[in-house]
Amino acid sequence: MSFALHGFAVAPGIAIGHAQLVSHARLEVAQYQLREREIEAELIRFDMALTTVRQELVLLKGEAEASPGAAAELSAFVDLQSMFLADPLLTDAPREMIRKRRCNAEWALVQQMELLVAQFNEMEDAYLRERKQDIVQVVERVLKVLLGKSRKITRRKGQGDDELIIVAHDLSPADTIQFKSLKIGGFATDLGGATSHTAIVARSLAIPAVVGLHNARPLLRDNDLLIIDGTRGVLIVDPDARVLEEYRLRKSELELERNKLKRLKTSRAATLDHQNIELLANIELPQDIEKVREVDAAGIGLFRTEFLFMNRSQLPGEDEQFETYRSVVKALPGKPVTIRTLDTGADKQTRAMRGQERIGPNPALGLRAIRYCLAEPQLFLVQLRAILRASHYGKIKLLIPMLAHAHEIEQSLVMIERAKEQLRAGKAKFDEGIEVGGMIEIPAAALALGPFLKHLDFLSIGTNDLIQYTLAIDRTDESVAHLYDPLHPAVLRLVAQTIERGARAGVPVTVCGEMAGDADMTRLLLGMGLQQFSMHPAQLLEVKQQIMRCDISRLQPKVARLLKHDDAARVREQLALLDD
Ligand code: PEP
Ligand code: MG
Repeated sequence: MSFALHGFAVAPGIAIGHAQLVSHARLEVAQYQLREREIEAELIRFDMALTTVRQELVLLKGEAEASPGAAAELSAFVDLQSMFLADPLLTDAPREMIRKRRCNAEWALVQQMELLVAQFNEMEDAYLRERKQDIVQVVERVLKVLLGKSRKITRRKGQGDDELIIVAHDLSPADTIQFKSLKIGGFATDLGGATSHTAIVARSLAIPAVVGLHNARPLLRDNDLLIIDGTRGVLIVDPDARVLEEYRLRKSELELERNKLKRLKTSRAATLDHQNIELLANIELPQDIEKVREVDAAGIGLFRTEFLFMNRSQLPGEDEQFETYRSVVKALPGKPVTIRTLDTGADKQTRAMRGQERIGPNPALGLRAIRYCLAEPQLFLVQLRAILRASHYGKIKLLIPMLAHAHEIEQSLVMIERAKEQLRAGKAKFDEGIEVGGMIEIPAAALALGPFLKHLDFLSIGTNDLIQYTLAIDRTDESVAHLYDPLHPAVLRLVAQTIERGARAGVPVTVCGEMAGDADMTRLLLGMGLQQFSMHPAQLLEVKQQIMRCDISRLQPKVARLLKHDDAARVREQLALLDD
């Protein structure tokens, strides 16, 4: 039966393909009672699943050892999971439960997992406490075998060239980043907001996505035929022939439009009144550089380095980080690369990091980004030294996230100086004059810019967080996603004010939040005086097209009028008039 679900449109485009349900151990497992004579078979089924996963882990370890770079890291991770899998607490205890309570193996395993997770939560040592994640992961592996699902995302017979559409209750940014190496057509989740990092990664992959669907995961079955309309925020299940045809047509039209945009790659990003605008790219991983080259961005305006720390159980060391940063800057000779120091915490959790469980009840307001780095100076210094060393090989700029207080700016600068001294002592080469900038993403920073303008070389407005903190809504929470409004007058004034004060003080200002890549906002930002935009490479040519159609001298007075309104509805009316 055909039906549609509505959520939030987070990454535009259309995907047509088959559902691949991604499991979430605790949500999926049903409980049922066994008859006495079924118990032996259930125990064998459980043991066979354990054996399968043990073999899987052996294979994985072999693969890890054969691929340099990831070897030590992945091996350690596999060893840990194998160790848990050999522990009687995960093997004998569920067996006992199957026998005594006559329950199914999946249920017994999840009950035991919950018990162990609760015990780990009580542990004093933060590192040990975090190992509960490894237990959950190994249990999920066993569950997938028990439930008859392959762990790997693979194309099935009969699916032809259709795309795979990931359907999940929730995906973390760490889950989503793994899609970079898989060919995924689109994804749909029950949870999530428009600028959650999961959505941001989807946009960076340029794959259509809809989040906040509430009930997609329980309503869908594996292999269902789906259409994702990532522009309207709709998921259509089992579409009829007419709807399918319409969407196929629309999809090919979109591809044509996208191909036409490619012609703009070599055009100058200049307005009709001859003002040059700098269009930079946001990246999460070094492999994104290929996409940056495809659109010939002027450089990297935001390298979100926290993604290098995800999906691993040990932190990347100084040398590994240095190699990564150097590879990025060397891949873009002559172009600036803005490397943002770790913005971990909130929805970007990293398993390997100490103290991540200290983020407290309000993660977005907790020990995040620079707050975390200043609380963990050794970890911060490792990253700073790695970035500084890479600065010898090209134009690197350092960007500090989530600054609000003058003392945070001062402490960050002290730490940078300390890292420089350490490098000087070791006779390592680096750019002595490296530029240091700050993210403006907390209203307090935008309202009290003095110390930022005095101490820093450039500013970068993070509209995603600026909106979250100005409007007091969690950007990952779909229940308040309707209140996430980039056009709220308070937000616009903070952005405009920052651009204007930066210009007056001669401090360059970039916008690197999602607003910069939204072609509907281009005129507004140009009218505010913005000259540097940083966005996902996939959005760059569309924004360039807008820029080439604009006359800033005509936009400025209109935008000044728009900014006077206190009512978001009036702002929207005025925004529409900017197109004339
Ligand atoms: C922002 O907040 O706008 C930003 C660019 O940083 P992130 O999305 O990584 O928090
Ligand atoms: Mg931010």
